[in-house]
Amino acid sequence: MGREELLQDELNRNKATIEIVKLLGENDGFEIIVSKALKVMGKYLNVTNINFLKLRSDRTGFALISEWMSEYGKSVAEAVSGSSPVKLTADYVPDSIKVVNPGEMPEEYIAFSNVVDVKACVTVPLRINGAVEMLINVCHNDADRVWGESTLQFINAAGQIIQSILSRRLSKNSMLRSFSALKEIIDNSTNGVIVLDRQSREILLANRVMQEHFMLTKDDASGWYGFYDESIRRPGLEDDLFAQVVEYYSKPYKTWFELTFKELVWVDGRKVILCIAKDVTAQKKYQEKIEQQANNDFLTGLYNRMRCEADIAVAVRDAERNRGTGLIMFIDLDDFKNINDVLGHRFGDLLLQKIAEGLTDIDGIQNSCYRLGGDEFIVLVTYDQYVKVNSILASVVKLFNTPWDLEGTEYYSTMSMGIVRFPEEGWDVNELIKKADIAMYGAKRNGKNQYQFYNSGTEVSTLKRLDIERNMRKAVSAGCEEFLPYVQPIINIDTKECIGGEVLVRWDNPEMGLLMPGEFLSLAESLGLIVDIGDRILECTCQTLEKWESKGKNDMVMHVNLSSVQMLQNNIVDKVEKCISKYKFTPSNLVLEIRENLALHDIERVKRIVRDLKALGVKIALDDFGTGYSSLSYVKDMAFDIIKVGQSFVQDIVDSEYAKTFVRFIAEISETINAGVCIEGVETSEQCELLEELGISVIQGYYFGYPMPIKEFEKRFLKYSWCKIL
Ligand code: C2E
Ligand code: CA
Repeated sequence: MGREELLQDELNRNKATIEIVKLLGENDGFEIIVSKALKVMGKYLNVTNINFLKLRSDRTGFALISEWMSEYGKSVAEAVSGSSPVKLTADYVPDSIKVVNPGEMPEEYIAFSNVVDVKACVTVPLRINGAVEMLINVCHNDADRVWGESTLQFINAAGQIIQSILSRRLSKNSMLRSFSALKEIIDNSTNGVIVLDRQSREILLANRVMQEHFMLTKDDASGWYGFYDESIRRPGLEDDLFAQVVEYYSKPYKTWFELTFKELVWVDGRKVILCIAKDVTAQKKYQEKIEQQANNDFLTGLYNRMRCEADIAVAVRDAERNRGTGLIMFIDLDDFKNINDVLGHRFGDLLLQKIAEGLTDIDGIQNSCYRLGGDEFIVLVTYDQYVKVNSILASVVKLFNTPWDLEGTEYYSTMSMGIVRFPEEGWDVNELIKKADIAMYGAKRNGKNQYQFYNSGTEVSTLKRLDIERNMRKAVSAGCEEFLPYVQPIINIDTKECIGGEVLVRWDNPEMGLLMPGEFLSLAESLGLIVDIGDRILECTCQTLEKWESKGKNDMVMHVNLSSVQMLQNNIVDKVEKCISKYKFTPSNLVLEIRENLALHDIERVKRIVRDLKALGVKIALDDFGTGYSSLSYVKDMAFDIIKVGQSFVQDIVDSEYAKTFVRFIAEISETINAGVCIEGVETSEQCELLEELGISVIQGYYFGYPMPIKEFEKRFLKYSWCKIL
């Protein structure tokens, strides 16, 4: 090379060096900067190929990041692609700049140099954190190419510049400050992280979570590829990959992932896909819970109304298709409002839960019990379970005839149930539920604690119920005068004398005629009108007692029924007190009858009220004893003055040894517990005689007289209070 040529070469070299130095300040991606540098180098050096290789993370081979070729050069990318036996192995990794002159090709390099047509080359290793991570290969296909000192200096300098660009890039981003730190951080992430070469799909990095869940080991990434190909590279999806969120369920770990994809330029400049698998199991579970809540009743865990309606629709269709029959059972508790009012909501809730448990234990309906809200339940018997219908019905009835154990207290809660058949009675879900509801009201009207099948006749009575409701509101707001106190005599069979009577309400309505308590009292309770009606009956009774006493008849007692709602009003004691002072009569002639179920409610509260009432001088009777609610210890505890034994005992007394024993027992212990006993519902002379034999003195029943208007009672019993009635 002549002097002029040397000067020109120096000038070109300086120019090229300056161009490469300039790249230090550029903001392009590393890959672009590298390709620019390679181009400058290639042109100045006048070689055939310069390639830039990055050592793979497992250090077993190289990946091609960028290459530049002259018009005579062969492409490395092509040489190593596809089925080519030549691979960029890591066999040739020099420690420092390595010069290969023609004829000196190292053995590890021969196969590669043959394919790429390299006769002479210079390799510059680039280090990151001290370790060789990349190589720049400057290659020439000319067997005469000799590398001069200044050329080598230039190549080395260019390599240093590229290395410093790379280092800067790395230090710029603290996450990527070092590969090991990065790997550490990523490895410990609870999210799965995987980085793939966009072109070759080579896995550049996969953290622990990713390896565990996607069955990806160093040697076997087939799990990942299987998933990737199946779920992500579906036709049409890949184009849209970066806008996708793909869900993945890891079965062995019962873990849900949400995978998102990003296109990134990797630290070495190549295009990669970063996939982040976020563990969304907790979120999923929460979602499932919300979905479950949409279908389930929170309190009991049963399905709710929404699910009920959906299931009925399916059940009706199935029954029709299979020419079968199904049933809807609509259950409503008889006394629930009371339980909540008296025992408190906690017990109410507990009861509902127990009922739910009991229902779902019944064979054939485990999966078809629903709570509609409040104290309403639906049981759906699908056509394929219809063969079991009798046992299901019997089990449901039995469930409610057995006491519930509420935190150690035995409690009875009966129900009324309406039943409708489908598709016989209809196809429409709402219509069917309505019909079951109508039948349920029929059961209530008939005295509760029973079930009724829907038939169109029931519907008529529901219309009547609406009439009753309207008329009752009217009657109450007009001062309750339509509600009349009838009196049924109470007789002492030892003396054969009438000792008083029980006041039983009747409703004389101009539109509907005379109604019995069974026809309107539970409705009055549920409408909250019972208190007004009860107050009116109490007033009438006290007024009557005053009248009798004023006429010198002061040994007649009057029994008045108090419903639990009345009894548990805050001011019941005040009310009775006011009546006593307003109407002058002997307070002990007033007997307040309270029902057994009340005695099982808030015992302390009931006891307090009973005590306060008794302090006013009135007497307290326990009504309808023996129907199964309370035990004798309550009776003793409560200090009732009178125990009234329910009709059911009398009905059985002639034939049933148990009834006889029970009545005798009550008669015997009445003295011990200091209470009188009154047996209700006596209809025949046979019953009456037997009761006398069993030691009973006080009796009430149709045998002696039906409930009658006060005037008639006075006529028949007051005037001749001494007379023999039998
Ligand atoms: P209860 O307190 O058990 O009243 C006795 C019921 O038995 C009365 O029914 C009475 O007519 C009926 N009865 C009396 N003797 C016989 C008999 O020999 N055989 C039969 N089979 N039945 C007999 P009623 O009048 O229909 O009253 C039903 C229930 O309504 C009463 O049952 C009572 O719990 C309630 N009730 C009646 N009046 C009132 C009231 O003013 N206030 C409240 N809260 N409840 C009332
Ligand atoms: Ca009674």
